[in-house]
Amino acid sequence: MIRLPKSNGSKRVLIANRGEIAARIAKACRELGHTAVGVWTDAEPNAYHLHYCDEWVHLPGKANAETYLNVKAILEVVKKHKIDGVHPGYGFLSENADFARALDKAGVVFIAPNTEAIRVMGDKATSKALAQKAGVPVVPGTAEAVPTVEGAIKVAKEIGYPILLKAVAGGGGRGMRACMNEDDVKKNFEAVGREAKASFNNGDLLVEKLVLNPHHIEVQILADKKGNVYHFFERECSVQRRHQKIIEEAPSPFIGDDEKLRKDICETAVKLAKAVNYDSAGTVEFIMGEDRKFYFLEMNTRIQVEHPITEEITGIDLIVCMIQSAFGDDLGFPSQEWITRSGHSIECRICAEDPITMLPAPGKVTGFETNFPQGTRFDHCIYRDLEVTPDFDPMVGKLVVTGIIRDVAVRKMRAALDGLHIEGLKTNIPLHKVIMNEPKFCEGHYSTNYISETKPQDMINCEFDHSSIYSKLAAIEARQLGL
Ligand code: ADP
Ligand code: ADP
Ligand code: MG
Repeated sequence: MIRLPKSNGSKRVLIANRGEIAARIAKACRELGHTAVGVWTDAEPNAYHLHYCDEWVHLPGKANAETYLNVKAILEVVKKHKIDGVHPGYGFLSENADFARALDKAGVVFIAPNTEAIRVMGDKATSKALAQKAGVPVVPGTAEAVPTVEGAIKVAKEIGYPILLKAVAGGGGRGMRACMNEDDVKKNFEAVGREAKASFNNGDLLVEKLVLNPHHIEVQILADKKGNVYHFFERECSVQRRHQKIIEEAPSPFIGDDEKLRKDICETAVKLAKAVNYDSAGTVEFIMGEDRKFYFLEMNTRIQVEHPITEEITGIDLIVCMIQSAFGDDLGFPSQEWITRSGHSIECRICAEDPITMLPAPGKVTGFETNFPQGTRFDHCIYRDLEVTPDFDPMVGKLVVTGIIRDVAVRKMRAALDGLHIEGLKTNIPLHKVIMNEPKFCEGHYSTNYISETKPQDMINCEFDHSSIYSKLAAIEARQLGL
């Protein structure tokens, strides 16, 4: 019988984030017997995640720059509240090498990989160069910034059109532009550079071959501080809008039963993680062409939004393991082969956005009820009176279902979406409902062009389901009263 490895004792963990991920991390701390210290700001004094924390710290201010992105203020909290470790969640300071270095200097554990891994992987040029050196296939193009439009045109001629101009510091699907020909490059080069400089304070651009009808397939990695690196299979994240994921599933329907390809992509991810001495949870993202050839895109040196689907098919709590790894505890996995998967899991990102334009739609929740089928998990930050402001990510929850095979998972997701009632807020639930009934998605035949080609937003029946759970309850009551 395998037994739990010994832990290094109870720690004080600061959760430098908000929303569903902060609540998720607090629950993992509770399981491990650590004290979860949550952060609240003037923008959100009643934040959902605080209910799951053991202690609360106030960071004054409303704007993220004053609070969750304020390195100085967070370092002061760390000192004042005798914090042993900081979990950054995703976004905010999660991939900030300067913050990692400052914590290192203060002798505080950053629940993330080592600073050098964050630095190298945080830049799409240095990470690409490292991947190439490690023998990992990369997308044809440059592995260093191209400073001039003439330089970009020269590379484009060599690799052939269409190409993609991509900010080395980009993230969240921003800082990217496809160019079909030389004129496009001339038109876009400076503009993309300027946008990148404004968004990421770095205007450097890469030139990359645009892979046609590709699949975004990524591999979950978990490593400890002793040189053990494990993979937890792949996720398919090709349902995207504006290069941002909205639906993810594991395993990938495109890889399907091709166990050789699965093994190849997973082992390639492990090879890259080892090359950068990776020692935490992370994700290696690949782009896979129609010909099933795959190329390294980037590595996210943090926990990702879509980690739950991997947890559901492997039965491993990635955040618990990430915290254990950071404090130098053993993960306790006997071998890679010991990690297995079963079933199929799908995640729909529930966002406060217009389902047709897919643009953020801030607002206030006036009602919230759920009635889910067996096999559903809802990681969220929703409560009655929650106000979604333009300052925060519009994602308010992640609806995750798991079934024994993909068809069952799709069926469950339809039922779960029907059982999710969020009132007062415009959400993309109607869009997810259409996709879960759309034949191409149901068959598992889709690439990253799915939304632009299939246009599920045009199939939304505006009459869809605006019925209120409260009006339903009122109807039941009326019937009972014989009205
Ligand atoms: P990915 O799309 O790479 O899987 P996630 O979806 O896990 O990443 O992203 C986590 C969150 O952080 C998302 O809300 C995303 O928009 C945001 N994000 C990630 N990187 C950046 C960045 N460099 N700048 C702004 N937002 C980012
Ligand atoms: P980010 O840091 O914003 O997540 P990525 O490099 O991971 O940037 O790319 C985000 C998405 O953009 C991918 O999932 C994919 O849909 C698209 N993309 C990126 N590079 C390419 C490429 N070379 N060819 C085709 N699509 C790409
Ligand atoms: Mg990415």
